Amino acid sequence: MKVAILGGGPSGAFAAEKLASAGVETVVFDEKLAWEKPCGGGITFKAYSEYPFLFENDTPKKIVHDTVLAAPNSRPVTLALDHPLLIYSRYDLNRMLLDRAERAGAKIEKARVIAAERAGSQWTLRTRSGSITADYCIAATGARNPFRDLGAQFNRETSMTALGYFVRGDRDHIDVQFLPGFEGYIWVFPRNGHLSVGICGKGKPATELRAMLESYMRRNGIPIEGADYYGHMLPCLDTPSWKSTRVEGEGWMAVGDAAGLVDPITGEGIYYAIRSADLAARALLSNTVDLAGAAYRRLLRRDFMADLEFASRLSHRVFHGSFLRGAITTRMVQFTRLSPKFREVMQDLFAGTQPYIGLKHRLLKNINWSIVEIVCNLGMSWVIPRRGQA
Ligand SMILES: Cc1cc2nc3c(=O)[nH]c(=O)nc-3n(C[C@H](O)[C@H](O)[C@H](O)COP(=O)(O)OP(=O)(O)OC[C@H]3O[C@@H](n4cnc5c(N)ncnc54)[C@H](O)[C@@H]3O)c2cc1C
Repeated sequence: MKVAILGGGPSGAFAAEKLASAGVETVVFDEKLAWEKPCGGGITFKAYSEYPFLFENDTPKKIVHDTVLAAPNSRPVTLALDHPLLIYSRYDLNRMLLDRAERAGAKIEKARVIAAERAGSQWTLRTRSGSITADYCIAATGARNPFRDLGAQFNRETSMTALGYFVRGDRDHIDVQFLPGFEGYIWVFPRNGHLSVGICGKGKPATELRAMLESYMRRNGIPIEGADYYGHMLPCLDTPSWKSTRVEGEGWMAVGDAAGLVDPITGEGIYYAIRSADLAARALLSNTVDLAGAAYRRLLRRDFMADLEFASRLSHRVFHGSFLRGAITTRMVQFTRLSPKFREVMQDLFAGTQPYIGLKHRLLKNINWSIVEIVCNLGMSWVIPRRGQA
């Protein structure tokens, strides 16, 4: 079997590595190969514990142990991460993944695929310099997937805008800033030699997001002059779309952003790109071509799609909801500061080890403890006597 992979980002490169190392003839097309894709480049513990090579390698990366969380009407809080976050430049990450695919035996071609046509059981992929045929096709073309017949298409309800600046500088922590009534957040991610400062969110035009980000940067002394601007679109499926997103069809599967597989609350996509590529390769290697697509869909559903669908239901509540007459994001920051129990939940959320399904149950189970801790930490010694004073 010969498999053509359209796109050599994390999803395409990893699918190629898996298939080629199992002996499948695999060719990857990417119009740019390794490039600095607009991205934070953050990789969670969930990702590198599942795929240890993401940590154990010589590729430059930043290992970050602290996150500073900030929200309106609350003092910022530093959250020490039990498991650090890795931050890569996307050029370096993509280069590493493509090298691994090549070493596994995949053929890597620098070319834009301009047409993908299927006749009978064969694909013909056209580039400016010619065409090749393949038995199976994997669409890994990212959020701006140009192929209408392969993978997902996005609209205002199923995507968010993400933009930012690469700024010279260094830091040893991440900043996350929530804003009033805004379904999204601002981040400052330190990378090797520079910072990726960005904003992502739903429901506002790019010009407004850019103004919000620039105002934050000015307030926080982050220089805009001389910084490189970037902007991209990020899949952010709403609840109905998780059931209908096109992840497979006759002779093809879509992986990563091209299938819409991004966390609709945090925008994390690199893990899901790699994970979906892994599942796609497994489905293709253990099924006939006819059955592989359905097998892939089932694997996705069981693995993470049900959780991300649930997250899409929570998303609006997280950013617009209120709790104890304050915004949920503000309460999140305050509770993180005042309650060790709540802090544990936040640490697991940042590590990616707390699924969204089950989050409410865990919070409810801990709420009484958290409230006791908060009352104690607010110094209400007239309510709860200090040790030795009772
Ligand atoms: C601003 C921003 C910040 C983000 N921050 C984070 C973060 O910190 N952590 C995280 O986990 N996720 C983050 N994401 C999401 C993450 O970038 C994506 O989920 C991830 O890159 C998806 O990988 P992919 O391989 O599916 O697609 P991509 O990385 O987009 O790769 C697609 C590839 O396909 C190629 N291509 C497209 N069309 C063609 C064609 N016709 N022919 C040949 N090649 C083609 C492109 O050149 C590209 O290399 C962020 C996204 C944005 C926009």
